[in-house]
Amino acid sequence: MSAERATPVLRVEGVVKRFGEHPVLRGIDLEVEAHEVVVLIGASGSGKSTLLKTINLLEQIDDGRIFLGDEDITDPRVNADRVRARIGVVFQHYNLFPHMNVLDNVTLAARQVFGIPRPEAERVGLGLLERIGLVEKAKEFPDRLSGGQQQRVAIARALATDPELLLLDEITSALDPQLVGEVLDLVRELKAGGSTIVMATHEMSFARRVADRVVYLKDGRIIESGPPEQIFESPQREETREFLARLR
Ligand code: ADP
Ligand code: MG
Repeated sequence: MSAERATPVLRVEGVVKRFGEHPVLRGIDLEVEAHEVVVLIGASGSGKSTLLKTINLLEQIDDGRIFLGDEDITDPRVNADRVRARIGVVFQHYNLFPHMNVLDNVTLAARQVFGIPRPEAERVGLGLLERIGLVEKAKEFPDRLSGGQQQRVAIARALATDPELLLLDEITSALDPQLVGEVLDLVRELKAGGSTIVMATHEMSFARRVADRVVYLKDGRIIESGPPEQIFESPQREETREFLARLR
């Protein structure tokens, strides 16, 4: 324990998760520092989504511990809603509420979870919509927006409570190819703005450009973790090489 190192935003220690008899996470260790962007890569079924869900307490772990800042969030006495309020999450499928306009979608958590009065929540919400270039859509319903615009709104919504950590799970994989770029550009802006992000993606070129660290998962284990130049140009492990070769 070195005193001069800041507490990481996230520390995952020996996390094991089984579904029935089937181990899906087999002892995951991962630390994420403030302002770091960590990108999870790996074949479908390797455990990326499950790992993100355990961090957000959507899945209970069978062994190990997870710390958000100083707090052991896997302690059974922890209030899960309070933990989730500190983490922004965006999934593959746009999960906007269809019966609410864009601004209400963005401000809902701030109003309901944090009890921020509507005028203030809307001021913040409009600022976020401005930032993602969609302020003119504030009063539209989600079905009037393109998939890319909806994902950007989902990101704005995740930011509305000023989370310590953002979890992004395959946020471009349901999008038409021509809409992927605008969402990835927004992630780049978040990184530039200092957000701390853990994201799973199939977009290797994006992982390469945005990641501070790339983590390759296979069968619920971290096989290799390192800066993108290492992982993509000189992977240290045969399994990483094989995985990347299959993508080309
Ligand atoms: P990835 O996101 O890397 O594609 P997942 O975390 O979704 O991988 O899945 C990892 C493994 O866990 C897969 O074998 C998947 O079938 C299994 N799995 C995921 N969620 C559940 C669940 N709720 N019940 C049973 N098995 C699950
Ligand atoms: Mg997944």
